[in-house]
Amino acid sequence: MDSPSPRDHDMDPEALRRFGHEVVDWIAHYRRHVEELPVLPPVRPGELFETLPEEAPFDGEPMEAILRDFRREIVPRLTQWNHPGFHAYFANTGSGPGILAEALTAALNNNAMVWRTGPASTELELRTCDWLRRMMGLPGDFEGHIEDTASISTLVALLAARHQATGGAVRDRGLRGLPPMRIYGSEHVHSSIDRAALVLGLGTEAVRRIPLDEHYRMDPDALQAAIAEDRDAGRVPMAVVATVGTTVTTAVDPVPAIAEICEAAGIWLHVDAAYGGAMAVSPGHRDVLEGAGRAQSLVVNPHKWLLVPMDCSVFLTRQPAAVREAMSLVPSYLMTPEDGVARNLMDYGPALGRRFRSLKLWFVLRWFGQRGLAAVIDRHVDLAAEFAGWVEAEPAWEVVAPVPMSLVLVRHRPAGLEDETELRAHNERILERVNARGRSFLSHTVLRAADGREVYALRVAVGNLGTERRHLEGVWGELRGVG
Ligand code: PLP
Repeated sequence: MDSPSPRDHDMDPEALRRFGHEVVDWIAHYRRHVEELPVLPPVRPGELFETLPEEAPFDGEPMEAILRDFRREIVPRLTQWNHPGFHAYFANTGSGPGILAEALTAALNNNAMVWRTGPASTELELRTCDWLRRMMGLPGDFEGHIEDTASISTLVALLAARHQATGGAVRDRGLRGLPPMRIYGSEHVHSSIDRAALVLGLGTEAVRRIPLDEHYRMDPDALQAAIAEDRDAGRVPMAVVATVGTTVTTAVDPVPAIAEICEAAGIWLHVDAAYGGAMAVSPGHRDVLEGAGRAQSLVVNPHKWLLVPMDCSVFLTRQPAAVREAMSLVPSYLMTPEDGVARNLMDYGPALGRRFRSLKLWFVLRWFGQRGLAAVIDRHVDLAAEFAGWVEAEPAWEVVAPVPMSLVLVRHRPAGLEDETELRAHNERILERVNARGRSFLSHTVLRAADGREVYALRVAVGNLGTERRHLEGVWGELRGVG
C-alpha cells in the first residue's frame, strides 16, 4: 500500500484564515471566561509530561487535533497569569492589543539584527523606547532598546559598567590581572544582579548588600562607607544598583542620594525599575523616579505593569557608546552599507537575533495612550491602599510593610501566637488553602524586621487589568475565612 506523501508544505492561506478565526474566537472566549478557570491548576508535577506521547509524530497531524489537545491538555494545566485573581509575585496582563501584535510579530517573523534586516522594526524600537522614556518623565539623553527580560537588561548595564570601570581592558583580556570588582545593591536587590555577577565571571561575592532603613530602602550612608572600605582594600567599585520598587516590598531606594554618591565616586548607577518604573507613567506618581535621570542606565519592564504580554524589557541608557563598546562584535558577514549611518541593534545586547518586540509595545502604547495607562496604574495603587486599609482594621491581621505601590504584604497574627516559626507555619497553611480554592493565587515573601526577626508574609499583588474591587473583596474574604 502506498504511504501518503509527507506534509512538506505550509498551511494554505485558506486553512490559515479558517484556523486563525477559530484561534481568535478561542482567545476572545478565554479572555471573557478566564475567571471560571482555577488560577492555580490542581496538577501534580509530571502530569502533562506523562500524558504526552514519548515521540513526536512521524506524519503531520491535523490542526483540529492540535487545537483540541491544546484546549484539553495544555490550558487546564496552566497557571492563569491573565486571571484577575492572580495576585502572586507581580501580577501582569497580556492585553488585547498586545495579543494581536504578537500574532502579527509571528506572521512577519522579522529579525532586527542589523538595520537592513529590519529597518522598520529597528526604528520602531527606538521610537517606542523614546515614547516610554518621555511618558516616565526621564531626560532626553537616555536612549533605549528592548531586551527580553530585566535580567538581561541589567546584565547589559553591568557589562557596560564593568567595561567603563576597567577602562575597556576587560573586553580583550577578560578578568585576568584585574582587581576584584564590586556591585552594590540593597539587601532587597533582585537576584538578577547576582545572576549577572555569575554570568560576568565576577562571582556572587562581588555583590555587596547594603543595609536597609526602617522602610526597607537602601541606607546611603552605609553605601558610602562600603565603597570607601572596598577602595581601601584594593577592590574596584564597579556599579551601584538602586531599586525603584523592590521585589520584596516595592520600596523605592533614595535614588537622589545614591546618585550623589555615585557621581562623586565615578561609579555607574543602574536603576532597577523593572516593576516600579511603570508607576511614573502616571503624572501623579512621577516622583517615584526622582533622581533616576542622573543614572547611567535604567530598566523598566512593560511586561510587568504596562499591559504588554511577556516578554518586553526596555533598557534605557545615557551611555550608549559604553554599551556598544563593551558589546559590539561585527563579523564580516554582518557588515552592511548602512553601518555608521543607521543603528544596528545587535551591537547593544548579548543576542544577535532579536524578536520584533516593539510592535506589541507600540500597539499597547497607542491603544491605551498615556492617559489610559496612568488610569490603570492609579486604580491599582488605590485598590492596594484600600485592601491594606481593610487588613489594618482587623485586629488579628497585619500589613507588614509600607505600601508605596500596588503590593500589600499581610499576615495573620492571631492572639496568643507570637513565635515566628509557628506564625510562619500558620500563614503557610493559609496560603496553601487559599491557593487550593483556585479563585485567587497568592505567593509569599520573607523579610527581616528592624529587630532582626524573619517575618513571613503573604503577597497580594494588584497588577492585572481585569482585577476589580470585588476580586480583592474575594481574596480578603478567603483570607479571613481560612485564617
Ligand atoms: N528586578 C525586579 C525589581 C523584579 O521584581 C524582577 C522580577 O520580578 C526582576 C528584576 C527580574 O525580571 P525579569 O523576570 O524580567 O528578568
